[in-house]
Amino acid sequence: MPRLTSFPAFVRVADRVVAIVGDGAAAAAKVRLLAETQAKLRVVAAHAEDELRADVARLGATLVEEPFAPRHLDGAVLVFAATEDEAADTAIAAAARTARIPVNVVDRPALCDFTTPALVNRAPLAIAIGTEGAAPVLARHVRAKIEAMLAPDLGRLVAFADGLRATVARMLPAGEARRRFWARAFEGAVAARALAGDLEGARDEALRELSAGADVAGYVWLIGAGPGATDLLTLRAQRVLQEVDVIVHDALVPSEVIAMGRRDAERISVGKRKGHHEATQSEIEAILVREAKAGRRVARLKSGDPMVFGRVGEEMAALSRAGVPFEVVPGVTAAFAAAASAKVPLTLRGVASSLVFATGHDLDGRTLPDWSGLALGGATVAVYMGRSVAGAVAERLMEAGLSGRTPVAAVENAARPGERVFAGRLADLPALAHEADAGAPVLILIGEALAQADIGDARPLAAAAVGTTAAA
Ligand code: SAH
Repeated sequence: MPRLTSFPAFVRVADRVVAIVGDGAAAAAKVRLLAETQAKLRVVAAHAEDELRADVARLGATLVEEPFAPRHLDGAVLVFAATEDEAADTAIAAAARTARIPVNVVDRPALCDFTTPALVNRAPLAIAIGTEGAAPVLARHVRAKIEAMLAPDLGRLVAFADGLRATVARMLPAGEARRRFWARAFEGAVAARALAGDLEGARDEALRELSAGADVAGYVWLIGAGPGATDLLTLRAQRVLQEVDVIVHDALVPSEVIAMGRRDAERISVGKRKGHHEATQSEIEAILVREAKAGRRVARLKSGDPMVFGRVGEEMAALSRAGVPFEVVPGVTAAFAAAASAKVPLTLRGVASSLVFATGHDLDGRTLPDWSGLALGGATVAVYMGRSVAGAVAERLMEAGLSGRTPVAAVENAARPGERVFAGRLADLPALAHEADAGAPVLILIGEALAQADIGDARPLAAAAVGTTAAA
């Protein structure tokens, strides 16, 4: 096993002086880093630059505007030499050594008694990542990964657990039972409630699990997976997917997104796919309740945002009825992904000041969709599930008085492989139904706001009608 050159330790700095010497950006960076702690910061800078001055003021440090002298280190527990001048930094390091105070010299590892780690701050939890002065980029890279893995409010959970420690110690014998309780508490319903800020609920749940014989409670996250690209998942969705025991997903969620879940989590597909059994809505609800009641952590993964045409209302009601705690993790809905792909604004000052999320799916009768009035009033309309009824949608809107020249865009597979953008006028929209890939999701945008955008490189909608579109 290779041995480290340094021993990682946490230096207690609360209410103690940390001295930082330097006028410029390097000193300012150290001020910001140390301001994550409760240290009293003493900044020695004869000619402080604006950035440093602003950070000192904002973060409540003390500024000593004098040329460096050894007495500036009096009472300090740590010293940072950050003048970015070799001779000056060397002199400061020498003064610190004489005063027997550990010193860090920015960018000169050979002169350092200690190096600073990349820090993930979830106070009272701290994670320090060090490369012993070498390859700091690696430490920053690892830090970014850890930042994404940990809930921003993790500190709240740590503080909560601290408050519960005595109770747990009283109710459970030390050893396996206690360890199991904590492992569960940090990942299950207790943690979910504490992280959501419901400390009382977390405490109730913890007490319930502590009392002999109580089953551990499951928990359900209704998660928006976004339009399909794995990096359009939210950090929260990604973190939760790493923690759950079961992932219940729709067919519209691509396998790459499902693959981002914990490797050994069970996957249950409940969506439409050719040749597969499609679970009914009540079967899906039963699965969620059954898994949660078995004490498992369940991710219900839906495409886009769960609250937009996601039939999540029924699932939330079923979970509430069964007494299963749940929360919702929002996602990027298809309308936003489509607008980004086509590079068209959804609202535009002076042109479109409202946005309608509509579905074309219930358009089988001759009735005008109830959102047509809004379209006439200048709203941008995002039509979900509209491919097969595109013609009917266009017809009804024109009958209602919307100009056939109103710009439209249709985005197939937005933010997924095989993405295609079609652009044209409302009168051309019926052509969409003849498009080849009937299985791919399509989002239709209609409205004058689109006219301002440059969608010149999109495929013309009218051409689609005569089957001339090339493969993507
Ligand atoms: N909850 C989802 C919508 C589910 S309804 C969301 O917020 O996006 C399914 C419809 O969403 C599809 O018929 C299609 O109109 C649209 N859709 C979903 N993903 C899409 C994508 N990647 N590209 C284009 N349209 C998409």
